[in-house]
Amino acid sequence: MTNPDQAKFQIVTSTLLPHKCLACEGKADGTKQFVDFGVSIDYEGAMYICVSCAEEIARTVSYIPPYERDEAILENDRLRSDLIESEERVRSLTDTFVSFNMSIPDDRRSGDSDVELFKVDEAGKPDFEAAESGPFK
Ligand SMILES: [Zn+2]
Repeated sequence: MTNPDQAKFQIVTSTLLPHKCLACEGKADGTKQFVDFGVSIDYEGAMYICVSCAEEIARTVSYIPPYERDEAILENDRLRSDLIESEERVRSLTDTFVSFNMSIPDDRRSGDSDVELFKVDEAGKPDFEAAESGPFK
């Protein structure tokens, strides 16, 4: 019987016979981690599954191991930071384009010019859709 004060499954490196994973039959070497089921079957011995097989089982039921979750959180934080930095660059470039476009005389910005970068809307923001020609068309 299992001890009610003890977790149902234990991680161990020290195993009893048959000293192997019941799924992949990987042998215990004293350093490899196994999940001890706390169950022993007559003529078979103690039931263990190696941590690698346990992770594979967990993935089968859509469980993400903590280290992968932590890596995903770090990657998400990095991507979020990159996105904020990219948005700041786009905002800066947009401001530069607006300033540049505003420095072009009106008659060169509208239909009189061969190249129209973009028009500026009432709020002073570039309206790329309104331009009829230029590098964004
Ligand atoms: Zn295994």
